[in-house]
Amino acid sequence: MQFTSKLPEVGVTIFTKMSQMANEHKAINLAQGFPDFPVSPELIDRVHHYMKEGKNQYAPMSGVPELRNVIAEKTERCYGYKPHVDDEITITCGAIEGIYSAIATLVQNGDEVIIMDPAYDAYEPIINLHGGKAIGISLKQPDYSIDWNEVKKNINDRTRMIVINSPHNPSGAIISAEDLRMLEEVTVGTNIFVLSDEVYEHIVFDGEAHESVLKSESLRQRSVVSSSFGKTFHTTGWRMGYLVAPPDLTKEIRKVHQYNAFTIHTPTQYALADYLKTPAHYEDVAPMYQAKRDYFLSVMKGSRFKPVSSKGTYFQLMDYSAISDMHDVGFAEWLTKEVGVAAIPMSVFYQNGQDNKVLRFCFAKGEETLQAAAEKLCAI
Ligand code: GLN
Repeated sequence: MQFTSKLPEVGVTIFTKMSQMANEHKAINLAQGFPDFPVSPELIDRVHHYMKEGKNQYAPMSGVPELRNVIAEKTERCYGYKPHVDDEITITCGAIEGIYSAIATLVQNGDEVIIMDPAYDAYEPIINLHGGKAIGISLKQPDYSIDWNEVKKNINDRTRMIVINSPHNPSGAIISAEDLRMLEEVTVGTNIFVLSDEVYEHIVFDGEAHESVLKSESLRQRSVVSSSFGKTFHTTGWRMGYLVAPPDLTKEIRKVHQYNAFTIHTPTQYALADYLKTPAHYEDVAPMYQAKRDYFLSVMKGSRFKPVSSKGTYFQLMDYSAISDMHDVGFAEWLTKEVGVAAIPMSVFYQNGQDNKVLRFCFAKGEETLQAAAEKLCAI
């Protein structure tokens, strides 16, 4: 049998690869982004409660109304805009199914999609699967900010979408109110949609605000916003996310979603609806991770790694150029096998694979884990 790969350039993701390598070599896994501490017992009790109560069959295709209701209230509380409960909110299987469905809905053969470079590894293959082309705009050094002049220069009549991601994975950079203004400027009066990946919206540090595109009236008319309960409530294995988009767009996205995930885990939706009613449950997440970032930085002080400022997400970039001139993929493998700490090489997030001698470390871990990792890293 012969067949043609639709993604000939793609293997397993770097996250899968590094987690496997970490397991094989019994290394501390600061590579793939996932928390290692317990989920709120109250939230787990609510899931159990609804399972026992019999909420075990298909949920409505768009999500249970109770959950969409509290999402609407939370969005208004956070960003001053209340999305319509029935027409603008869709519960998705993790954030990635929402992102996939949005790209599948909007990107046609020959379309161009502007992404930031470096970018989360999923966007480009999904764009390619739908016949589109990802146009990477280099983020500016040293703070990974967006070069709006470059964005403008790359807009033409084939540009269908701009993907933004704040807080940004892998860099930990965040966008400002001025960036939102620039995004308005480059999109108003065009047919360009915005896909705004805001999965780390509740993990922003040092008193900064998360600048959601939902804060802007003109942007939210052309935007699909992706959110993640996995990131906010450290339940990445539950695969719970949602999209907010205007009604006409939501209608089309649901046509894809209904033949893809169809519906999402019912008892967990009811449980999240209860849990979200207490704002502290999502408002306390940023200080908790800020303390972890600061702890990780403090135990890494004696090392030869140089930290790059992390303003959000649960990732910390570290420059290792004072230690080695090895390529970052090789260095990450060496670190996993010989030092016993796994991290993600940054080059995999660049379209041209550029190697700046920087690794991404995930600090969503207990203090003992971070300390044990830092001891090994400081000994290099
Ligand atoms: N979002 C996670 C990260 O950046 C990875 C998720 C996955 O493994 N696909 O590490």
